[in-house]
Amino acid sequence: MKNPCIIIGGGIIGSALAREIRKRDLADVVVLEKEKELAMHTSGRNSGVIHSGINQKPGTLKAKLCVEGNRIIRDYCRDNKLPYEQCGTLVIARNEKESSVLEKLLSIGTANGVEGLRIIDKKELEEREPFVRGYKALYSPTGAIVDSRALVNKVAEEAESLGAEYKLDCEALGITDKGVITNKGEFDGYAINCAGLYADKIAHMCGIGRNLLIMPFKGNYAEVNVQINSMVYQVPDLRYPFLGVHLTKSVEGKVLGGPTATLSLRGRESYDGEFNFKEFFDTIMSKNFWNMAKSKEFLKLALNNGKISIFKNAFLKELNSILKINVGECDIKPYRAGIRAQIVDIKGNMADDFILEKGYNSLHILNAISPGLTSSFAFVRHIAD
Ligand SMILES: Cc1cc2nc3c(=O)[nH]c(=O)nc-3n(C[C@H](O)[C@H](O)[C@H](O)COP(=O)(O)OP(=O)(O)OC[C@H]3O[C@@H](n4cnc5c(N)ncnc54)[C@H](O)[C@@H]3O)c2cc1C
Repeated sequence: MKNPCIIIGGGIIGSALAREIRKRDLADVVVLEKEKELAMHTSGRNSGVIHSGINQKPGTLKAKLCVEGNRIIRDYCRDNKLPYEQCGTLVIARNEKESSVLEKLLSIGTANGVEGLRIIDKKELEEREPFVRGYKALYSPTGAIVDSRALVNKVAEEAESLGAEYKLDCEALGITDKGVITNKGEFDGYAINCAGLYADKIAHMCGIGRNLLIMPFKGNYAEVNVQINSMVYQVPDLRYPFLGVHLTKSVEGKVLGGPTATLSLRGRESYDGEFNFKEFFDTIMSKNFWNMAKSKEFLKLALNNGKISIFKNAFLKELNSILKINVGECDIKPYRAGIRAQIVDIKGNMADDFILEKGYNSLHILNAISPGLTSSFAFVRHIAD
């Protein structure tokens, strides 16, 4: 094998990158995935929203790749007959004060090049969403939903048909100057770290990003018994990288409320409350954690989100604040959880953009947070370029 690229992680980023490298015939590719199936983690546990690009700070990599990625993914899903729906996004302002955030989002989206954005009045909002309560809304027609698991599997299937080799149940345990050491032997080549929730650990093996640590932020979803036509968001708090509790549709017709955002101290893959002692101590022994925990902004985020995650009533209150009908306990049932791979630096700051770091014979993709799914195809073009 000549000049192979050894991609660690078969999520959307690793798989889309494998496809891109093979499409351009840049190198042979091996994808190492520690699970027996693909999309078992973040790429298969997200909202499946193809964001339009109204929340990302202009000038960031995230903003550019989100807007570009939105178009590419919609085309890809249409061309490959993957389930998707361009249902549009609505950000709801409940009062005049929140309307100013809509104006801000409109100018961010316009600066990012999002097409078709406009503020709609109460009457149009009522026509579009009979069950949603609001004063005004920002309408973004390019927001869409996909089945993210189906997308990853299709992209991987295409990468394989272009010659990429997938090794499942194959965990990267170490990196040398020559390649990657795994539980299934050594693979020589240029290592590309797309390990999602463990991307920091892989980078540290190469002496990269030692001051950066992933803080896993868990998001719980609930299936909600309500009817919506578009995706419905509250106005976000622009200081945080997480959007508030919102309503999205799934391609199979479910309405999902969430995701919440609480620090997953129990572990990076603790979807059902499993306790991983090593990861717990790893987090609480780090300066990154304590410096983050000291900040007023984090405390406010933690208190508010903790409340929404723990108490059903608080979660319902959030949902009902944008609904005309009253959704009660009998109208929601738990759905899956996902965990965000949020990078926090040694000063406790949450990284707000995708991070690409080069090492010796290796490349590391860190902080592939939302809108990582939306941006994936554009992101891997950027990496391949
Ligand atoms: C709750 C939530 C909601 C989100 N909603 C959206 C959304 O609506 N729209 C959007 O655009 N983005 C969304 N995102 C973000 C998006 O899901 C991610 O940006 C994207 O999935 C990241 O993909 P990835 O390939 O980097 O990570 P992953 O999908 O986590 O893939 C990494 C892979 O690496 C493997 N791996 C890890 N360590 C090793 C190792 N040592 N050896 C071998 N394999 C390894 C893992 O098993 C995993 O399969 C959301 C994220 C979350 C958590």
